[in-house]
Amino acid sequence: MNMQACSPDSWRRGKKEKRFQLVNLSPLKRTGGIKVKKEDCIFCKIAAGEVPSKTLYEDEQFRVILDLAPATKGHALIIPKEHYANLYEIPHETAAGVMKLAKTMAATMTERLGAEGFNLLQNNGETAGQTVMHFHMHLIPRYKGDGQQLFHEQPTASQEELEEIKRKITE
Ligand code: 5GP
Ligand code: ZN
Repeated sequence: MNMQACSPDSWRRGKKEKRFQLVNLSPLKRTGGIKVKKEDCIFCKIAAGEVPSKTLYEDEQFRVILDLAPATKGHALIIPKEHYANLYEIPHETAAGVMKLAKTMAATMTERLGAEGFNLLQNNGETAGQTVMHFHMHLIPRYKGDGQQLFHEQPTASQEELEEIKRKITE
């Protein structure tokens, strides 16, 4: 399915100018050809309640569990009950549901755990650090001095490099 997108400039002008098409690349290409069968999937089993977990929240579509190897105190995962390997595969409605739930969970966890900040993290493909090939969103409460770092102090790109990347994505 192709989607139309609008540039920020056109939004500012109040025009719905169609600037470029977002493509839906093959999920198999994106995950290096690995497609885990539902029967073999640990997160399918956890989501279905067949394997026990520390569940923080559950509804028809999602289960939220504590991560076995937490990056910080309270590190949790939103797991859709339906098996989708990654972001390229999940339907837009499910993606929207994940973000709504992430917002609610972040507010509750921040208050209850006395966190001072919060990261959402979502890995797709081995290259990006995904180890369990069932879509999940990491909920990571942050505390002063917790020692976790992500994207800190990157070198600034040149305007030419940025222009080239922008062209690749939008033209
Ligand atoms: P990824 O690296 O795929 O984005 O994240 C997978 C996460 O799942 C890791 O943080 C890992 O600790 C967690 N994890 C892997 N297996 C289990 C499990 O059986 N139970 C729980 N609760 N977490 C798991
Ligand atoms: Zn699964």
